[in-house]
Amino acid sequence: MLCPRCNNYSYRIKRKPNDRLLSLLTLGLFQIKRFKCFYCYWEGIITGKKMRMSNS
Ligand SMILES: [Zn+2]
Repeated sequence: MLCPRCNNYSYRIKRKPNDRLLSLLTLGLFQIKRFKCFYCYWEGIITGKKMRMSNS
């Protein structure tokens, strides 16, 4: 997985409780994975179809 912001390699990190909720909202249709880039500190979740970004 490459970081969409800086194109460096981003790492898969542990999911947060909110991600589990999101998974429930999608009825478990999408697998949710959380990634973090240690170069630009981008963090986001990747689902089966959509990609969402957050800076939290
Ligand atoms: Zn990055």
